[in-house]
Amino acid sequence: MAQAAHFSGSESVSGENAESSAAEGGSGTPGTGGQDNPVCLIVLGMAGSGKTTFVQRLTAHLHTHKAPPYVINLDPAVHEVPFPANIDIRDTVNYKEVMKHYGLGPNGGIVTSLNLFATRFDQVMQFIEKKRHNHRYVLIDTPGQIEVFTWSASGTIITEALASSFPCVVVYVMDTSRCVSPVTFMSNMLYACSILYKTRLPFIVVLNKTDIIDHSFALEWMQDFEVFQDALSQETSYVSNLTRSMSLVLDEFYTNLRVVGVSAVTGSGLDQLFVQVEEAAKEYEREYRPEYERLRTELAQAQSKKQQEQLERLRKDLGEVKVTTAPPTGDTDERDTAGPSNLILTRGQCEEDEEEELDSDTDDVDHNATEESKETESFGNFLKSRTEVVQVRNRKCAPPDDP
Ligand code: GDP
Ligand code: MG
Repeated sequence: MAQAAHFSGSESVSGENAESSAAEGGSGTPGTGGQDNPVCLIVLGMAGSGKTTFVQRLTAHLHTHKAPPYVINLDPAVHEVPFPANIDIRDTVNYKEVMKHYGLGPNGGIVTSLNLFATRFDQVMQFIEKKRHNHRYVLIDTPGQIEVFTWSASGTIITEALASSFPCVVVYVMDTSRCVSPVTFMSNMLYACSILYKTRLPFIVVLNKTDIIDHSFALEWMQDFEVFQDALSQETSYVSNLTRSMSLVLDEFYTNLRVVGVSAVTGSGLDQLFVQVEEAAKEYEREYRPEYERLRTELAQAQSKKQQEQLERLRKDLGEVKVTTAPPTGDTDERDTAGPSNLILTRGQCEEDEEEELDSDTDDVDHNATEESKETESFGNFLKSRTEVVQVRNRKCAPPDDP
């Protein structure tokens, strides 16, 4: 098999699922088409908390209200996506091939697949940009294991790409039925807290599965410190001491937290959820957008300064030789967008081409001195070394050549 088969996938070109994008437009609540900036809901949560079911339910709910969302599946390992996805990572990256090609286990395969996809996320951004007038909401389902998204370079790249262009809200889904243990509840909340501080985006905690158990106990624990301490006093494990201390820290976190109880199965609580989503989107415009714009300007200035310095150095190195250059920013922009653009768009193209495209990723890296580009570079190195390892292993396992 040729080298890059794992990173092209099905022949349905362009990452956009025509079937699901056909059902667009319309009007009605909650939120209609025709708005300038769709609100991106990044759905996170522990494995089994109900993220995918929740996205499925939201999609159905929004369709009923004649406001179909733009839906993206970022879980490369899911067997079946139970909603019509406009963009499905599985159309672009073949997770099983990634495992085989780089000699990885299931978790490594998922992380690497998401990393590969993230290197082409600029194209996903273009798709969303094009459809920005048709959808009020963009729903993003993430891999089952939360850390794949929240503590990987790709999760950061994807989140920041979205949040620098659109109002973004993190929807943290919790399995309420599993949180009846105060220690489990606390661990989940600490995780939520860490994501809030990492993403620094408006945040909604969705207490899911309220059809199994009402979420009022959890609300009470968040509102009344004493009640939580009482629940904890029933716990005898050593973790309860730690939990007691941590709960003091979390008190502050709870104060400004948006919490909604829903059932992804029955659809209860979704109206309250959308009230919170709209509030969170306003919060983004008020507090996050100015910050992102400031960061973007600073980054652009830093990049342009670096390019100037590189040009200067080049001129010095060349000494007397006369060089003619186009304005640095325009030139670089063109190359950057032309470079990493084709893998999603041209799925099904010649596999050798794709390998070249993949390599060209690392070529681009030097031009951007951001953390992400450094991560992309080391990711490129990681892929190269993994391929070498697998090749060596395959050679060892291969039967000896005939004399
Ligand atoms: P994910 O790993 O976070 O995407 O979780 P899934 O959406 O795959 O759901 C995991 C399991 O929880 C599945 O068996 C779902 O049917 C179940 N589930 C999800 N949401 C609910 C809910 O609101 N109520 C109940 N009773 N089960 C749910
Ligand atoms: Mg899922």
